[in-house]
Amino acid sequence: MIDQKKAVSLYLFLRNMKVLKFGGTSVGSALRFKSVAKIVVPAGKNVVVLSAMSGTTNSLLEIAGHMYDRNPEEARNVIAALRNKYEGVVQELYTKADYQQKALEFIRETFDYLLSFTKSTFRDTQERLVVAQGELMSTFLFATYLQEQGVNVQMLPALSFMRLNSQGEPDLERIRESLLALLNDAPDADLYLTQGYICTNVRGEVDNLKRGGSDYSASLIGAALRAEEIQIWTDIDGLHNNDPRVVDDTTAVRHLHFNEAAELAYFGAKILHPTCILPAVAANVPVRLLNTMEPSAQGTLIDNSFDKGIIKAVAAKDNIVAIKVKSSRMLLAPGFLRKVFEIFESYRTSIDMVCTSEVGVSLTIDDTRYLNDIVHDLKKYGSVSVDLDMCIVCVVGDMHWSNAGFETKVMTALKDISVRMVSYGGSNYNISILVREEDKAATLKALSKSLF
Ligand code: ADP
Ligand code: ASP
Ligand code: MG
Repeated sequence: MIDQKKAVSLYLFLRNMKVLKFGGTSVGSALRFKSVAKIVVPAGKNVVVLSAMSGTTNSLLEIAGHMYDRNPEEARNVIAALRNKYEGVVQELYTKADYQQKALEFIRETFDYLLSFTKSTFRDTQERLVVAQGELMSTFLFATYLQEQGVNVQMLPALSFMRLNSQGEPDLERIRESLLALLNDAPDADLYLTQGYICTNVRGEVDNLKRGGSDYSASLIGAALRAEEIQIWTDIDGLHNNDPRVVDDTTAVRHLHFNEAAELAYFGAKILHPTCILPAVAANVPVRLLNTMEPSAQGTLIDNSFDKGIIKAVAAKDNIVAIKVKSSRMLLAPGFLRKVFEIFESYRTSIDMVCTSEVGVSLTIDDTRYLNDIVHDLKKYGSVSVDLDMCIVCVVGDMHWSNAGFETKVMTALKDISVRMVSYGGSNYNISILVREEDKAATLKALSKSLF
C-alpha cells in the first residue's frame, strides 16, 4: 500500500515518464544493444521494455514443438545452436571480465534450465516457461551492460506485475498497483527496465500476451502509469501506408488517429500488435513509432486528433475463412442473426466482417480451431459454404460517409480483382475487402497505385 504523501511524490516523478519499447531486431545483436543504450540513457528516467532478441521466440517455440513431438534430440540441437549465439553476444557485449562472467553464468543457467525440459513430460504450462526465457535473457543482458556503463538501472520483473485476470485479459488495476509499488521502492534509479510479452495468469503460472505482445506490454504499462508517451522502437521509420514486405515505395504515415491505428493493427499491419492501441486510447497516452536504426527520423505519432479527408494506409490480414449461411426460410426473420452469432460466441470465436442480404449472411473468422463444429451447428439454419485461404484488405482513413468519392477510388482500383465481400459503414475509419490470399499482393499494389 502507498500512503498519501508517497503517492504525491510518486505522482510528481511519474509525471513526465515515457515508456520505450524495443522490438526483436532492435536488440538483435551486441551492437544493437549498444545502440539502444545510446537512445535510452540520455532519454532519462523512463520505463524501457524489451522483446527477446530477434529469432529467439521462434527458436524457443521450435524447441517446444520438438518436445511435444517427443523428439528431445532435435530439441537439444536447437538449444545448442541458440546457446552458441547467446555466448557469442556475451563475448561481444562486455568489456569488463566480471560483467562478462555474470552474464555468461545467467546464460548457462538459462540453457541448463531449457535442457531440463527435455527430460520430463511436456505440456502447455512448460511451453510458456520455455518461451518466457527470451525476454528474461534480453533484459538481463541489457541490464548488465547498462550496469557496466555505470547506469543505475532498476529491473521491474514483468512476472511480478503483468497479470491476466480470469478471462485471460490484462488486469489493469492490479498491474497499476503492483507497478507503482515497485517504482515507489526504487525512486533513485536512472531508468527502469522490464520484459515485454511475458506475464502471469490468474493461476499464478507464467503466461504471455501472444506473439508480438511486447507492444501490448508497453501500452499497458504506459496506460497504467498515465505516461507522457509510449514509444515503440522498431526497424522501420514508422507505420507505412502499405505493407513494405509486399509493396515497393511505401512511405511513412506521419500521423494517425488512435482509431485508425487500431484498425490497421487489428487488420494486419505487423508493426503493431493487434490490441496494443486499446490501453493507450483508454488512458489517452500518445503512441509514437520510431526507428532504432535511424533514431532522428520523425516516425509516426498516434493520438486522438484527426486529419479530415485523408486516406492514410492499407493493411492485410491473412488466414481468413469466409462462411456463408443461406436460408430462404429464416433469413431476416427476427432472431435469425442472433442465433447465428450465438453459435460463434459459444465457440469463443470472434467475427471480423459481416455482410447480409435478403437470402443469406456471410461472415469471416481468423480462428479456425472450431470451424468444423461451427459449420455443423450453422447447418441447423440453412445451407453453409466455406471459403478457405482468404485475406482481409483494409483501407483506413477519414471514411465518414459524408465524404463523397473515396469508395469509388477503392473499388475502381480493384476492377481486375475478384472480391468476395465488402464491408463499409461499421466505423468512420475503414473499408474492408475480402479477396483470395493469392490475390493479396495484387490488391495491395493496385490500392497503393490508386490511393497514394
Ligand atoms: P519488432 O520486432 O520491432 O516488434 P516487427 O517485425 O513486429 O518489429 O514489426 C516491424 C515490421 O513490420 C517491419 O519491419 C515491416 O516489415 C512490418 N510491417 C508490416 N506492415 C507495416 C506497415 N504498414 N508499416 C511499417 N511496417 C510494417
Ligand atoms: N518475443 C515475442 C515474439 O517474438 C514478443 C514480441 O517480440 O513482441 O512474439
Ligand atoms: Mg512486433
